[in-house]
Amino acid sequence: MAYVYDDQNIFAKILRGEIPNDTVLETEHTLAFRDIQPQAPVHVLVIPKGPYVCYDHFAQAASDAEIVDFTRAVGQICKSEGLQEGGYRVISNAGDAGVQEVPHLHLHVLGGRGLGRMLQPAS
Ligand code: AMP
Repeated sequence: MAYVYDDQNIFAKILRGEIPNDTVLETEHTLAFRDIQPQAPVHVLVIPKGPYVCYDHFAQAASDAEIVDFTRAVGQICKSEGLQEGGYRVISNAGDAGVQEVPHLHLHVLGGRGLGRMLQPAS
């Protein structure tokens, strides 16, 4: 499958500084910021700075340095947001079935309350 990246998506605009964000962490290859509509007391979005549509695109096309940086950033956020003790959830929605709204890879890091079962039954 050919991945087509839309550089007008909202996270691309955030990365270019065209839209403000509430930054939690910035590294060489990764930006993490608070979700504008938080679903939990902690709801941080972690995005690579490179133009990757979704997780499998990133996993196949990103450099080792990008993947290490991104993964380490998630670990740092779990620590700095105090999620290690109480637990947390990391989600990445992709494509239609995953109901991905923004076509730039992002991990949702959620915590700070009980999060319930992972999936609701399909309606
Ligand atoms: P998804 O359905 O996985 O693509 O989730 C997209 C997420 O991006 C949602 O949780 C939105 O609340 C969040 N979001 C959209 N625009 C912004 C923004 N400007 N700043 C922070 N979060 C945003």
